[in-house]
Amino acid sequence: MNSSMITELKEAHHQFFKAYKKQPISVRIDHLKKLKKVINEKEQDIFDALDRDLKKPAFESFTSELLMVLKEIDAFVKNLKEWAAPKRVSGSLLNFPSQDFLITEPYGTVLMISPWNYPFQLAMIPLVGAIGAGNTVVLKPSESAPHTSKVLIDILSAVFPKEWVTVVEGDAKVAQALLKEKWDYIFYTGSTQVGKIIAKAAAEHLTPVTLELGGKSPSVVDGTTPIQKTARRIVWGKFLNCGQTCIAPDYVLVQSQFKDALIQALVEEIEKAFGTNVQDSKDYGRIIHEKHFKKLEADLKNQKVVYGGKTDINELFFEPTIVDQPVMDSPLIQDEIFGPILPILSYETLDDIDEVLTQLKNPLAFYVFSRNKKFINTLIQNYSFGGAVVNDALVHFTNPKLPFGGIGNSGLGAYHGKYSFDLMSHSKPVVKRSFWFDLPQRYAPYPKSLSLFKTILKRI
Ligand code: NAD
Repeated sequence: MNSSMITELKEAHHQFFKAYKKQPISVRIDHLKKLKKVINEKEQDIFDALDRDLKKPAFESFTSELLMVLKEIDAFVKNLKEWAAPKRVSGSLLNFPSQDFLITEPYGTVLMISPWNYPFQLAMIPLVGAIGAGNTVVLKPSESAPHTSKVLIDILSAVFPKEWVTVVEGDAKVAQALLKEKWDYIFYTGSTQVGKIIAKAAAEHLTPVTLELGGKSPSVVDGTTPIQKTARRIVWGKFLNCGQTCIAPDYVLVQSQFKDALIQALVEEIEKAFGTNVQDSKDYGRIIHEKHFKKLEADLKNQKVVYGGKTDINELFFEPTIVDQPVMDSPLIQDEIFGPILPILSYETLDDIDEVLTQLKNPLAFYVFSRNKKFINTLIQNYSFGGAVVNDALVHFTNPKLPFGGIGNSGLGAYHGKYSFDLMSHSKPVVKRSFWFDLPQRYAPYPKSLSLFKTILKRI
């Protein structure tokens, strides 16, 4: 798609938005219902595409992709009228008498750029929010998950006119060409590095932007929880989608006296989940492409692998791998891993924990496994993160009543459910006044003495 085609596309969306914004909310709800119906009809196509792109098992495709989207649509269908209704707020006595409201309006044309790791839901969930809030969407899915992109086109073109929702396939160059246009909102999911490019492009047009980025999410284990169950949950969160989950536990920080027991339990749980020959497991995915595969191989250089490490580039297979005590300045610790390598760091004191968490600050997710309330509260209060789970991993993502997003390096803005609606709507404060009462002193010439008014005005 060349730049004049992109300009035409943007203009078509803009014109559609102008006409469509006068439509009642029920039009959006009807389209969301239709979207749900078509997704259900195309379930097998979605599973097949995710299998081809990431060798995702159908069970994972359903639970971590399709189901999330269906739940998001349900939340919008059920609540949209209420979320979109004008809200009365109490007036200020300074304006007495007045009626004060908050009225939401859609931004207009939204550009979405999405990643490859959950290529269906990370495109669809923000899209449901944008459509629910009344916007149009141009979606640029990741070029690295082409089969899922085709299914997205198939589904979305069956539900929405192309001026309302358009999927534009292509790589970073296409994304950059799209970013040259002035959109009314940009929603980006992907790496922190590219997030900075997106933020700069948005700043050129002063376009509001959401950045859903990555980061190093720790799992702190103090040894007070059942070790086998703790290991099972970490293994599940880490190796789902072959470790290519933005909120996967990136590394473990365990109280040193429990380190060996935890490693042993992690190995047992890996083998319970995927067998001793993981390459044969139907429940284990693959690395997205060779470039990422080679980055993961390089991450393992000079590291002490205590389990796993087997790879097969022909199949993009990368065994679940545990690394003991990597050095802090190695890429494995400094960069987001985004793959099935689990480094284990140990600590003795809170100061040791602080040293690591201060260096690897602002993770997208934060996991603490503990029965010690004081320990849990200290960590949750002292550190900043996108979202936390105590005694489990990933599950905060599944509650649409909780906002999902990062902070600092892990992102800007949060979405899901009503948070998506609010994020992709502009909230307009409106104060309605009448003429039956007017404080004459507000107008010049002002009263000679300020002191009486100061006392009254400060009190109301
Ligand atoms: P990526 O940043 O390489 O690509 C994401 C999207 O950006 C793709 O559509 C791609 O075409 C586009 N893109 C790439 N380079 C670009 C450029 N220079 N200019 C404009 N657009 C460009 O990310 P990825 O490899 O697809 O995804 C992995 C990263 O995303 C990880 O860091 C992961 O943590 C993060 N992630 C975050 C979330 C979240 O919800 N916070 C979810 C999934 C993934």
